[in-house]
Amino acid sequence: MRPVYLDNNATTRVDPEVVQTMLPFFRDRFGNPSSTHDFGASAFAAVNKARLQLQALIGAELDHEIIFTSGGTESDNAAILSALEVLPSRTEILISAVEHPAVLTLCTHLEKTRAVTVHRIPVDRQGRLDLDAYRAALSPRVAIVSIMWANNETGTIFPVGELAELAKEAGALFHTDAVQAVGKVPMDLKSTAIDMLSLSGHKLHGPKGIGALFVKRGVPFRSMIKGGHQEHDRRGGTENTPGIAGLGMAAQLALKFVDDATTRVKSLRDRLEDGILQRVPNTFVNGDPLERLPNTANIGFAHVEGDRIPLLLSRAGIACSSGSACTSGSLESSHVLRAMKTPHGSVRFSLARDNGEADIDRVLEVLPPIVEKVRGSPSPGPARRGNEDHQSGLGQSGSRIDFLS
Ligand code: PLP
Repeated sequence: MRPVYLDNNATTRVDPEVVQTMLPFFRDRFGNPSSTHDFGASAFAAVNKARLQLQALIGAELDHEIIFTSGGTESDNAAILSALEVLPSRTEILISAVEHPAVLTLCTHLEKTRAVTVHRIPVDRQGRLDLDAYRAALSPRVAIVSIMWANNETGTIFPVGELAELAKEAGALFHTDAVQAVGKVPMDLKSTAIDMLSLSGHKLHGPKGIGALFVKRGVPFRSMIKGGHQEHDRRGGTENTPGIAGLGMAAQLALKFVDDATTRVKSLRDRLEDGILQRVPNTFVNGDPLERLPNTANIGFAHVEGDRIPLLLSRAGIACSSGSACTSGSLESSHVLRAMKTPHGSVRFSLARDNGEADIDRVLEVLPPIVEKVRGSPSPGPARRGNEDHQSGLGQSGSRIDFLS
């Protein structure tokens, strides 16, 4: 039976058109974009084309507002570190409690190693930001606000336009990690006060290891990676031309499919959610009921440890993720679900344009008996971690992974 892939917030299948776009840059168009001969010029043209394709997807004003990076993690790091450098008199950072580790881990590190204070703004049970706490934390001491556009685990969308306006009033820079949102919701950055935005190729049917940081025209920026003059001196290192060309094509396709994401994919997601809630007792949806990515369903199952369901689904050929992780030998929900004060036992299904009705039918057929079985049998506890964990997407035995990508 065809495997069912419902873990698209972790990564997506590279679109065949993206693969075709990349191939020439390994073969005849292999030149270095910095070289002045024809090989270089051909690669340089591809990089510039990709910039235009990304500009169109996110509604940037100018192509040179785009800096290519190695992915979402680098873009997040570059934005925050740059802000601390360009605004040296400001020593505070404001983030949400549910940011991806690409932001959280860096901020914790900065707190330990520099004279930096980090405000982690809490969220409510539906994953929505506490706006009063946000307003209260903004001050002339804040260098940068970094709040994600949408959460990777629950899909909850944050009001980044409004948050950016408030940050601007306080004179702080505003960065958003939009790794999960780009391609899933329409964007027009030129009509917002957002200064910087991170995106990643592999979340939108592009290759892994390539991403971009949008830096609005006029926003001061200091390069984190020092080296050559690539990317207008904003990111040293020979450009990943195949990856960049692939990301450009992925962006072009994402723009074409964004309506599909907000209509067809959303209705598949809704059918999946409704179907689970109807067929399986004591289940609930985690996240904002309205302001949520159209592809993400995070379902809580009472009386269940979340990782057991993805494990059994995986054995039935269905890939999804658990919202739990093994931390210090005991199963614990992720930092996002803990911040939402959600009990254990959550499973994330994340859809994409290559999913269809048959995938949803399959889950709705296979899932109810699995939950019944899990609820009827005692938990084997964390001792069974090992290959099984690997299959369930939690990582190999011995590796401690306490977040979802
Ligand atoms: N930010 C969010 C919200 C993500 O979901 C991810 C990916 O897991 C990242 C950042 C990191 O992106 P990358 O894998 O491209 O470094």
